[in-house]
Amino acid sequence: MEDYIVRAVTKDGHIRAFGAYSKATVEEARKRHDLSPVAAAALGRTLTGAAMMGAMLKSEDDLITLQISGDGPIGTVMATADNTGRVKGFVGNPSVMLPPSKVGKLDVGKAVGDGVLTVVKDMGLKEPYAGQVALQTGEIAEDLTYYFAASEQVPSCVGLGVLMNRDDATVREAGGFIVQLMPLAPEEVLSNLEENIRSISSVTDMLSEGRSPEQIIECILKGMDVEFTDRLPMQFYCNCDRDRIEKALISIGRQELQKMIDDGEPITMNCHFCNTDYTFEIDELRGILKKIR
Ligand SMILES: [Zn+2]
Repeated sequence: MEDYIVRAVTKDGHIRAFGAYSKATVEEARKRHDLSPVAAAALGRTLTGAAMMGAMLKSEDDLITLQISGDGPIGTVMATADNTGRVKGFVGNPSVMLPPSKVGKLDVGKAVGDGVLTVVKDMGLKEPYAGQVALQTGEIAEDLTYYFAASEQVPSCVGLGVLMNRDDATVREAGGFIVQLMPLAPEEVLSNLEENIRSISSVTDMLSEGRSPEQIIECILKGMDVEFTDRLPMQFYCNCDRDRIEKALISIGRQELQKMIDDGEPITMNCHFCNTDYTFEIDELRGILKKIR
């Protein structure tokens, strides 16, 4: 099954929901960054959440970035998505290893630690919108739930799950959901929703039972009239290329570039988001220096 995001609404308009199947996206991230299991779980959850939040954006040029800055051994976790299902991201320490949590799960909360979640929406305006909240558990889904309530005043429920294969540490299943209560929703809709949420199992459990994002959403919105309005493909995608990296080299200025040329060694620049290396030979650096003159 290919990765995708679905959008849904209840026919009364009181609830909107997003669901994602993201196994290939998270596996691509794992391979590109050589992620340990707990790092794959942390980044995978963040990529999945970011992609669904990207699907909330209005325009194709808009971008959303989630930055999770905790004091745990994984360092910063970052993901950027647009509204077409494209998402990219990285973690500070991809090889972080931790013993499993008390309930035998990958301990994402401990890997992330205490800190803040920053959400930046770049919508082509002068100042991008930025909201910041304290991390609640570092497990990502709870932190996003808290962000929506505290920063956007939208009561929401976020579930994210990444399941790893024990034998070869590849990604077995990944996905998630975001369910949001619209303004003026009556009290009974909320209590219905709360009751449903209490009765569902974890996202990883539902995924390992083979449930699709649509089925997960139907489960959470049980007893309500659900309409799936849209489905878009989701993928790990980075928009870096040699031209962009060259512009970055130009921006460091003539003096620094001249120094690199004098050192006589080729320069390798790395794109953090997709871990691609770009090497520039001395002759190429000379060519770039000429462009600055
Ligand atoms: Zn890249």
